[in-house]
Amino acid sequence: MGVINLADGSQADCERAETLSGEKIVACKQCGTCTASCPNIQDMDLPVRELMHLVQLGRLDEVLASRTPWVCSSCLQCSVRCPRGIDIARVMEAMRAMQLRARKGRLSPAEVVDPACADAPPILLVSAMRKLTG
Ligand code: SF4
Ligand code: SF4
Repeated sequence: MGVINLADGSQADCERAETLSGEKIVACKQCGTCTASCPNIQDMDLPVRELMHLVQLGRLDEVLASRTPWVCSSCLQCSVRCPRGIDIARVMEAMRAMQLRARKGRLSPAEVVDPACADAPPILLVSAMRKLTG
């Protein structure tokens, strides 16, 4: 479904995101249901609908500079409610993967050895390292 016409470079970036996520991102009609469904929206600096629009436009630099993909807890509420059947959680995962592949993790191992983490359950630290480091 070619609903958006973009300059070549931007289209390539959108297609890259579609390939990595396996989702038809250009099908998003900007209804905002995803933003309204998200339980973590108050901690996001880029609402889910806006993130989808930026990906459609191939403006991945702006998406990857955002904390939104990292705040997403993959709860799937947006995915099950999207009227276009887009699994938005997979798009978020693709954005995280892009950033990690660029060696731009969100967590430094130095932060994990911080005394503030001393009482954290080991599984929490393992999960954080797996999700947030490249
Ligand atoms: S719910 Fe689906 S169609 Fe609506 S804005 Fe979000 S991704 Fe786009
Ligand atoms: S999967 Fe992520 S973006 Fe979607 S509703 Fe859940 S926390 Fe929000």
